[in-house]
Amino acid sequence: MPLRGVRRVCSGIFVRIVSQSSGGQFGAGSRAGTIPPDQDTLIVDHGPHGAVETTRLAPSPTGALHLGNARTFLVNWALARQRGWRIVLRIEDLDGPRNKPGAADEAIQLLEWLGMDWDEGPHRQAHDLDPYRDAMSRLAAAGRVYACELTRSQIEAAASAPQEQPSGDAGRESHFPPELRPTGAGEVVRFQDTESNWRLMMPDREVRFVDEFAGEQRLNPQRTIGDMVVWTRRNEPAYQLAVVVDDHRHGVTRVVRGDDLLDSAARQATLYNALGISPTPRWMHLPLVVGPDGRRLAKRHGDTRVMSYRDAGAGPERVIGLIASWCGLERRDMSAAEFAGALRPDTIPRSPIICTPEDDAWLLRR
Ligand code: GLU
Repeated sequence: MPLRGVRRVCSGIFVRIVSQSSGGQFGAGSRAGTIPPDQDTLIVDHGPHGAVETTRLAPSPTGALHLGNARTFLVNWALARQRGWRIVLRIEDLDGPRNKPGAADEAIQLLEWLGMDWDEGPHRQAHDLDPYRDAMSRLAAAGRVYACELTRSQIEAAASAPQEQPSGDAGRESHFPPELRPTGAGEVVRFQDTESNWRLMMPDREVRFVDEFAGEQRLNPQRTIGDMVVWTRRNEPAYQLAVVVDDHRHGVTRVVRGDDLLDSAARQATLYNALGISPTPRWMHLPLVVGPDGRRLAKRHGDTRVMSYRDAGAGPERVIGLIASWCGLERRDMSAAEFAGALRPDTIPRSPIICTPEDDAWLLRR
């Protein structure tokens, strides 16, 4: 059910590695672990971290910043400023065909317009693929990845039984069970530029961690996604690899993002482990903003782009006031700094936030 009209409606745990691959050291700050990759549980290692905690704002320029994205970035920024975390701005622009021209610069301008700032960046992932190639070489040298020529339809045709549906972006990738591995998967190989997908040998084991918002998690990515693609046939890293390499090299210790990526956290923990790097960041996954139909905020709910509200005359303090009310605070115009002073994670609702026509009307009221 669309909101009204359409033009402008609103639309810590246990974390210690108990199993680890033979991937060896990877960059500064790595701590080697002890191995057997097939133990049944990976207890994620979140610490200890150095004195300065670091987070990142990581917009993808695949579309315009809407109220839902703005809310996640603002909560992330506010927690960082409250707690003295460094902030790195990273543009996740690797998904070439899905990127929209100008969307990265526009996202940066809108974050600034809302009153956010950062201490480092913007880094643009697509500018230099060498750090990701280096990670692939390490995974290949440890026998943890293999080239795979199978197409999506071949994988789906081969799947014998329906699989658990993972949350978030995993829904777009077919489950890849170990039976489909090609002969030779698991052998030590040399990674080179390629027109094949490369997949990670996903161990069949539970990954356990405590999410700072969502609580204790026990996820088995082999059952949901299977051997995931870590390098694509477009000859660039897939999201899961890029995010792990970048969070590690940028010293990220705190990740705040939407809970559509909760399942990805288990896959990312598996990659930290396969690369022999630790500790992983602490994750805080927040419930998404949805439309009145309960589906994640998107075009079908009308125009919820922050830019459209700005162009229609809503100031940043009005947009932040709406986001504040979505976080359990009073609904009133406020600056980003006031929001950072007032935000308390324990008042953020634990269920999805519904963006209503009244929210839209409030944003535009003079
Ligand atoms: N770039 C992703 C997004 O805009 C966020 C990924 C992440 O936080 O790990 O949704």
